[in-house]
Amino acid sequence: MHHHTRDLIATERCDVLVVGAGPAGLTAAITLARYGIDVLLIEKHRGTSPFPKATGVSTRTMELFRSWGIEQQIRAGSMRVRPVMTFARTLLDEPAFAVPFGYPTDEQALAQSPCTPCCCAQDHLEPVLLQHLYGVGGRVRFGVELVDLVDTGDAVLATIRDETTAAVERVEAAYVIGADGPRSTVRAAAGIGIEDLGTIGDFVSVTFRAHLTHRLAGLPAAINTVEMPGAEGVSCRPAVTTGGSTPGSGIPRPANGSMTGHRSTASS
Ligand SMILES: Cc1cc2nc3c(=O)[nH]c(=O)nc-3n(C[C@H](O)[C@H](O)[C@H](O)COP(=O)(O)OP(=O)(O)OC[C@H]3O[C@@H](n4cnc5c(N)ncnc54)[C@H](O)[C@@H]3O)c2cc1C
Repeated sequence: MHHHTRDLIATERCDVLVVGAGPAGLTAAITLARYGIDVLLIEKHRGTSPFPKATGVSTRTMELFRSWGIEQQIRAGSMRVRPVMTFARTLLDEPAFAVPFGYPTDEQALAQSPCTPCCCAQDHLEPVLLQHLYGVGGRVRFGVELVDLVDTGDAVLATIRDETTAAVERVEAAYVIGADGPRSTVRAAAGIGIEDLGTIGDFVSVTFRAHLTHRLAGLPAAINTVEMPGAEGVSCRPAVTTGGSTPGSGIPRPANGSMTGHRSTASS
């Protein structure tokens, strides 16, 4: 623990502190808040992710969203796709082959469940979850980073830093949930190590807006891999971009028509 934070007194208390407002943190916080538990969610960024990222929402997850009354809001930002990854020369060519994800067809899902799986990108999903969390009484603080965590035996003392003002405060919680992604501060503070299995590749992620569906014959695949010489390794994920941001949630959005990208390294 850093010496200069040792004397801070707790300015905020909660039953459960959830660190990270991605899908895991938002759903964990919602689950707790729905049971009446006093939950505080902190997220270092100023809003939920502006990137579409993953799009596959399973049948079981849709059942949970249905039980929370938000299934239709999530479907409003979804797109009908075939649950396969195709490999074709270009997006317009007949795929050479398709690899199924193992998702059921709508008919198979409806034989077991009131729900079907859904293709909904994270920039639509996360704002819906955030609004639901506010609705069930969850407290959320954006632009606040967890920098240190100490287990006192009876409580967890978290040191958090406001990203705008650099002000440091202390939160006391009975429990903490580390939903802070692959480079988790919570995991490191809890002394849980990781085994580095190496890198499987470097990826550049580019988000662009284009109306392509009318040019494609039939339903697009969830992941469309292009194999034209010079464009090998390009993999397109269709997604509905509904704007994502919800009034009051303070979500920074790329301007319409803009391209945004970030580089990531995937590890196995
Ligand atoms: C192009 C692309 C495609 C993808 N496709 C798939 C896919 O098909 N299937 C799949 O399962 N996954 C996919 N992913 C990965 C998917 O986005 C992640 O699995 C998912 O976001 C993980 O959710 P999470 O809530 O665990 O963590 P994250 O979404 O990473 O959320 C963690 C949050 O914690 C915050 N945080 C971190 N440290 C701190 C801290 N110290 N204090 C406060 N906040 C902190 C971060 O800012 C972040 O908002 C894809 C990602 C990309 C970019």
